[in-house]
Amino acid sequence: MANIPTQRAEALTAWDSPVSVVRFVDDARTVALERLGIRTVEDLLRHYPFRFLDLTSTPTLAEVQVGSDATVVGRVHEVRVKKPRSRLTITEVGIVDGTGVLLGVWFNQPYAARRFAPGDRVAFAGRVQLEFGLKQIRTPFAEKLGEEDDPTLTARVLPVHRATEGISTNWMRRLVAEALGQYSDVPDFLPARLRIERDLWPLTSALRCIHFPEESADAGHARRRLAYDELFVLQVGLAIRRHGLVDERKGVPHVLDGPALTALRDDPPFSLTGDQTRAVSEILADMASQRPMNRMLLGDVGTGKTIVAAHALAAAADTLAQAAMMAPTEVLAEQYALRLGPLLDTLGIPWTLLTGSTSSAQRSETLRRVAEGSVAVLFGTHALLEETVQFAALSLAVVDEQHRFGVVQRLGLRGKGEAVDMLVMTATPIPRTLALTLYGDLDVSYLRERPSGRSAESNVTTTVMGPQLRPSAYERVRLAVRAGRQAYVICALVEESTAAEAKAAVREAERLRADVFDDLRVGLLTGKMKPADKTATMHAFRAGAIDVLVATTVVEVGVDVPNATVMVVEDAERFGLAQLHQLRGRIGRGEHPGEFILFANPSTDEGRARMDAIATTADGFELAERDLVLRGEGQVLGERQHGLPELRLASLIRDADLLDQARADAVALVSTDPHLRTAEHLPLARELRRRFNRQWEWVSSG
Ligand code: ADP
Ligand code: MG
Repeated sequence: MANIPTQRAEALTAWDSPVSVVRFVDDARTVALERLGIRTVEDLLRHYPFRFLDLTSTPTLAEVQVGSDATVVGRVHEVRVKKPRSRLTITEVGIVDGTGVLLGVWFNQPYAARRFAPGDRVAFAGRVQLEFGLKQIRTPFAEKLGEEDDPTLTARVLPVHRATEGISTNWMRRLVAEALGQYSDVPDFLPARLRIERDLWPLTSALRCIHFPEESADAGHARRRLAYDELFVLQVGLAIRRHGLVDERKGVPHVLDGPALTALRDDPPFSLTGDQTRAVSEILADMASQRPMNRMLLGDVGTGKTIVAAHALAAAADTLAQAAMMAPTEVLAEQYALRLGPLLDTLGIPWTLLTGSTSSAQRSETLRRVAEGSVAVLFGTHALLEETVQFAALSLAVVDEQHRFGVVQRLGLRGKGEAVDMLVMTATPIPRTLALTLYGDLDVSYLRERPSGRSAESNVTTTVMGPQLRPSAYERVRLAVRAGRQAYVICALVEESTAAEAKAAVREAERLRADVFDDLRVGLLTGKMKPADKTATMHAFRAGAIDVLVATTVVEVGVDVPNATVMVVEDAERFGLAQLHQLRGRIGRGEHPGEFILFANPSTDEGRARMDAIATTADGFELAERDLVLRGEGQVLGERQHGLPELRLASLIRDADLLDQARADAVALVSTDPHLRTAEHLPLARELRRRFNRQWEWVSSG
């Protein structure tokens, strides 16, 4: 008995061995497996079948249905080998059972004929087809049976694994079976208590059963255990990271009764919505505490995140510390300066702006003032992350539209001070399950309500039209301009590059200027323009000196021009739902109703479904849920997951309950043993490190 645990532990380390240690995996198969991303033993064990052939039904030859999967038992009455063409051999083995006849058919497998002789009792399994009025199974799974035997190799549920050139489905099944035989008996890393509480199968049985279930229902149990693992391990990692970030560090306890914050609260530029008020108090409570803040402010476009952030900036200034506020584009960073700057001025808070196009003289002046602490608030772009930017006492970092930044950049800003309070803001409504998966290390404040009088969505009508209706859309633009409003024309998203996209926009602007709106002032904004030109164009648009702004998706982020009420989007089916929703958020921001006009000619069901969703759904969260379902989570997650442990089985759409369980279990576990040091949790700690791999530092660094 004593040596069994050792053997099992060895099996576990062997999971990281190259897949070539598995029997039958020779050099050629190693190369073929690599094409499927299978490099280690574990990769092969986790190469889960994508479907199952249920061959458990054993009807008589008379009963068996054409088109069904089944196992039939009969006696061979005839074996025939035909050669209809020079390179084609067909082997037909006819069987009878007293109720009917069926053929087993093999192509170019002459040895099949040698396996069977008239009088043999056999089982054939597979999909039943009809050919020349005769039932047949092509390339059946077959076994010879003794007189009294029941089928053992057939008449079961057979997994179908993704195969590749050089390794057939049958071989793949065999290789997986080999790997399971040699390596699946490993210690279970999940604490027994949880396994029992959640009624989860042991790891070894789950692994075996997900590949080779006795019956279909078993695969479901196995899947649930393994999907739980994926979610649980990720959530434990996030919980540990969160713990390290907020529970173990001493941050700056900000003062909440200083002059700037008091003035802002006593005399706000407008009265806050209920959601804004709640978000402000959640944020300020975090900031007053010694636990560093790690919070996301999640609110649709136009819900008023900026004023909420202003409260945090004021608290930092009152504490005689510093705040940095980072935006993903220069247009947006300049907009802060433009809109928040004057507010900060009235509160007596010294601030400045730093972007890539700040002149070098101004830049060194700014760097000096930031380093000596005479600037309390620094707005900017990625430029803030540069090493030369050093703060005297950074205590708050605000990252806007944070989905545009990678994890590393989020951390970069935090690293510019000691235990900095982090506030990340995003206008991309994220389905709850996705938020928990991607940002489970953050607390979240939601803004769902819109400031009164500007209920943007109900205020914007969305129309999807075929491109042939262009003239009528342009008429809408002209009417709006005549009424004193402004419009956007958004050019098609071009896959290849921003350069190509910019070119398309330039052409479109020329066309509109020449042929359509020759009497209007048409401007152009692309990602390729020089920063100074971009700024000038935005100023002109904001000042009303441009009627129609032709733009690429650079306007998606944060641009606020309340007088713009019409937006026309070309080739709308090329945009994701979230992106369209963001674009829509740019209009109807003022008192005037907005019109969102989409030219679309969707050629796929998915495209049509997306157009239908954007036209009928105003709520960003609901759209995000629909987007997740339509595009599939693989795509949504893949874009943003940054090497976090993979979710192969767990679905953010179907496994919401399992995710909640896994998260609750993870949080509870980490709160009692934040470093997974108790004996009971050591196997889990090991598993976590294996799965997070290179991202482990991210988990443990905070
Ligand atoms: P977001 O960044 O969330 O998209 P903004 O902070 O840019 O939204 O706010 C959108 C607009 O709504 C701005 O013009 C802002 O001044 C205005 N606004 C925000 N909150 C309120 C409020 N409570 N009452 C009236 N107007 C508001
Ligand atoms: Mg904003």
